[in-house]
Amino acid sequence: MSGRHSRSVLFPGIGSAGQERIGRLRVAFVGVGAVGAAAAELAVRAGVMKATLIDRDVVEPSNLSRQLLFDASDAAEVRPKATAAAVRLAAIDPSVQLVPVVADLEPGNVRAILAGHDLVFDGSDNFETRLLVSDASRSLGTPSLYAACVGDEGRVALSVPGRTPCLRCWVEASPPAGEGPTCDTAGVVPTLPALVAAAGLTEALRFAVGMEPAPGLLVLTLWENGLRTRRLLGGAGINPACPACAGRSYPALEAGAAAETVKLCGRQSVQIARAGRPRPDFDGLERRLAPLGRVRRSAELLNADLADVSLTIFSDGRCVVRGTDDPVRARGYYDRYVGG
Ligand SMILES: [Zn+2]
Repeated sequence: MSGRHSRSVLFPGIGSAGQERIGRLRVAFVGVGAVGAAAAELAVRAGVMKATLIDRDVVEPSNLSRQLLFDASDAAEVRPKATAAAVRLAAIDPSVQLVPVVADLEPGNVRAILAGHDLVFDGSDNFETRLLVSDASRSLGTPSLYAACVGDEGRVALSVPGRTPCLRCWVEASPPAGEGPTCDTAGVVPTLPALVAAAGLTEALRFAVGMEPAPGLLVLTLWENGLRTRRLLGGAGINPACPACAGRSYPALEAGAAAETVKLCGRQSVQIARAGRPRPDFDGLERRLAPLGRVRRSAELLNADLADVSLTIFSDGRCVVRGTDDPVRARGYYDRYVGG
């Protein structure tokens, strides 16, 4: 038997009917970092119909130790992760629909970006985004897959509306990985993200072929004593007090649209986004910043390495300030170099 998906078809759990179902699956990947990039590659190779790749950030040299899909030239050219991933995945299978989205998910855009998918694979790196994705998926009635890791521990859970708990339910039962430490503060076993991605994407494929979701929250640890797994069952499942599962309200979607949001996004890195931000004038910025340092530009962003700080300004108006983890100093750099 030949053909791209012949080995999956031969596997009795998938078969030709299962492979056809996988071939109709439209998946949104939130975060194309270590977990998301590995999962997106596995999904494209497994034969999904469509992969939407959502990431707000650019490829950096420190990503290359564990983030599949990216290489040294992506880091050197400061390419957005979403577009770099789409280029690589198109080379792997040109028949898959690939939609890169360079954006920060927020209450005002998350539903529009996630709508029209059969599954949301959440490989994001911060708890605020995870709850936003969970609430938005519940409000759309779309299953979501939570896949996270930090240090030597990874967690995976498939959330299907009406059938299994959402992330908000789990928060009550067990603090999620990544709530406290992050990979930027605690590091990560370099092979763990691919393991978590494979476990998560397997859940997605099982769902696609019509199997019952595996119970509870899968916890993988990988270092001491090698690989160990366990499942947290978290009581009886859907938390009766969860407003999102009851369809009463979606707290993360209702967070007020702040005039300005400043958030830490990794070590020595602060993101600044202002409400109602216009599309930045890249020509004007390049003229102003080129005498002060090295400026690189693409359709999606302008990057300026200046004497004291590095700025990345995205076409949606966000600015990531690298070189400080102090929000006040970051806002100072933003005001000085980009302007209000
Ligand atoms: Zn819930």
